Amino acid sequence: MSQEILKNVRGTLERIKPYSPGKPIAEVQREYALTDVIKLASNENPIGASHKAQEAIREALSELHLYPDGGQTLLKQALAKRFSVSEDMIVIGNGSDEVITFICQTFLEPGDEVVVPTPSFSEYDFGTILMGANVVPVPLNSDFSYDLNSFLDAITEKTKIVFLCSPNNPTGTYIRKQEFRQFIENLPPHVLVIVDEAYNEYVEASDYAQGLDFLKEGFNIVVMRTFSKLFGLAALRVGYAIGPADIIGYISRTREPFNVNHLAQVAALAALEDVEHMKESLRVNREGKQQIYEGLAALNLSYIPTETNFILFDTKVDAKQVFQSLLKKGVIVRDGGIFGLPTYIRVSIGTAEQNERFLRELAEVLAELKTNATV
Ligand SMILES: *Cc1c(COP(=O)(O)O)cnc(C)c1O
Repeated sequence: MSQEILKNVRGTLERIKPYSPGKPIAEVQREYALTDVIKLASNENPIGASHKAQEAIREALSELHLYPDGGQTLLKQALAKRFSVSEDMIVIGNGSDEVITFICQTFLEPGDEVVVPTPSFSEYDFGTILMGANVVPVPLNSDFSYDLNSFLDAITEKTKIVFLCSPNNPTGTYIRKQEFRQFIENLPPHVLVIVDEAYNEYVEASDYAQGLDFLKEGFNIVVMRTFSKLFGLAALRVGYAIGPADIIGYISRTREPFNVNHLAQVAALAALEDVEHMKESLRVNREGKQQIYEGLAALNLSYIPTETNFILFDTKVDAKQVFQSLLKKGVIVRDGGIFGLPTYIRVSIGTAEQNERFLRELAEVLAELKTNATV
């Protein structure tokens, strides 16, 4: 019976590859009968969420029977104030993943083209293919820096969107001011550039191209940010985009009325004002980055300098084996194979203790693999 129904499924869905998420801690505990498992696989904030955000949620528990504020009024006001933009320049999603889908739903028809970096975040491909449009991947340089000229070269009349991720996941590399200016000044007027700045708050490089500066200069750019990383609210799903009001107006038409739940809205609002939590998160990350850099160097491994809360490094062996062996020891990381980098591992920067454990287990794993290879 269902065969007839299945024929009606939109053909483009055959092209969608399922997202490969980081392995959950509970699953690894069960699978390998471990108690002490650490997850450094999804770039989550190792110190947890802001206590002020947690308190805001506790207070909001008495309001669970009420629909959330569909206009997301207070959160939008706070973001508008923080970034000195008007409220009609902001759209908030159930995570920035949802915002990516909004953008694709707003602009893409079957056959349209979307230019994306590779390796990068897989959700740009998802949103594009969902709409029946085509992904045009542009490789990063061999050191994983951006060559924005090759993005310009990839643009055709069919191109509607260029996604850029800066700093980029999974490489940690970023776009410099000068090269971004050169790029956006030469961008054909029919192309919208989306800059995914999920890791913006971690950036220390002074020549980093801030998308908002270019938006304020009047370029066709939409900037995406999230509460999932620095603000430590990944479980709640809050992300947003800032762009020209007319563009954001259309993007907002694709949004369901209650897409961001009440607990998420109150927590995001509280987290935004928790300067102490932000400072502490950045301190832990800065120190952890140094700790992992030094640990990798001691193991003679080269890493890609990062402006984020994760580090990509070359194991020089089959990273899948390293990933699996670390998993057995209770350390969850990301296997570069999913990004087309089969000898690389991406590790999220954890607490000092977690980083130390990761480095210790990594040293053991690499030594074991070496011994096995030579016998
Ligand atoms: C983590 C991440 C996001 C955040 O997604 P949310 O849906 O807001 O949790 C967006 N873009 C990139 C590149 C990321 O790495």
